[in-house]
Formats: sequence, C-alpha cells, structure tokens
Amino acid sequence: MSSATENTQLPRFIDPRKFAQQGLSLAGDITVSELSRLGEASLSSGDNVKVALEFDVDEERHRVITGSANCHLTVTCQRCLEPVEVGLDAQLNLAIVWDEERAKQLPKALDPLILGEGQADLYTIVEDELLLNLPMVSYHDENCIEQTSFGDEGSETEADSSSNPFQVLEQLKGSPKS
Ligand SMILES: [Zn+2]
Repeated sequence: MSSATENTQLPRFIDPRKFAQQGLSLAGDITVSELSRLGEASLSSGDNVKVALEFDVDEERHRVITGSANCHLTVTCQRCLEPVEVGLDAQLNLAIVWDEERAKQLPKALDPLILGEGQADLYTIVEDELLLNLPMVSYHDENCIEQTSFGDEGSETEADSSSNPFQVLEQLKGSPKS
C-alpha cells in the first residue's frame, strides 16, 4: 500500500527559521493552480509540483533550505500553438537572511532568501525558484509542424534538348535565294 507521505499537500505557511533550527524536512505536492504566476503559464490546472525540502543549520550557522521542486507544465508550443509539456526542475540552495547586507556576505553556493521573522509563504519561495527555470518560449522536441506538401510531385516537364535555339538561325540562313 502506498504510504501516506505520497501526494500530500505541501503546507503553505511555515516558519522557515524554526524549521531550520529543528532540522526538519518537508515533502509534498503543490497544485499549479495555487501558484498564480506559474498557473498563468500552464494550460492544465491539474499540473502538480513535487517538492522535497530540507531545513538545516550549516557549519557556518547559515539557516539553509535545500532540496528540489519539479513539475511537468503544460504550455503552448510557440511553433504549432498546440499544448506541449515542459519539465521544470529547480534545485534549491537557499540561505535565510534578514537583509540585503547579509545576503551579500553569503558564499556563492548559497542563494539568499531574504525573510523577516515568523511565517513565510513556502509556495511563493518554491514558485520563484521554478520560474527561474521556466523557458521564455517552449517548443515540441519533434518537428511539430509537418512540411506541407508542395504541389504535385513527379510531373516535372523534361527539359527538351531537341528545341535548339540555333535552328532559328538555320532558318534565317535558308532564306529564299535571290
Ligand atoms: Zn509544437
């Protein structure tokens, strides 16, 4: 039997600093329709984001959120205008900081997540990361627009070599004798 942790809805409002202090992890789904910006790009309200996050305090005492968020998003193919599925795969390496100043002091491997005290909207955090991975335009992998057939095939007129332009000259030469 499938375990209860599958297909669970990811909680939306949590206290990320508290989660980090406690070394908690979270896994669950977000329905794309609950993410306004990503939902706008999606043609299918049933698209689902799978999220797995770990909250921790690293050796340098940064409160970090690491993990992944991925989904298949149904968008419009910009070549044939039919729906096409694109895979979004975001890797999170966030450090929770209070302000810009502390954001600048972070090592390169960590992306700043500027948050005030208390609860934060986890969906917005995940959505921001996914949007960074959303291509500006999407196309089917295959050549989705068929080459439209180009008129009739096989009825090429043969270039007739028997009609020799010099024949005209011959005729002129054979003009009536005086
Ligand atoms: Zn297409």
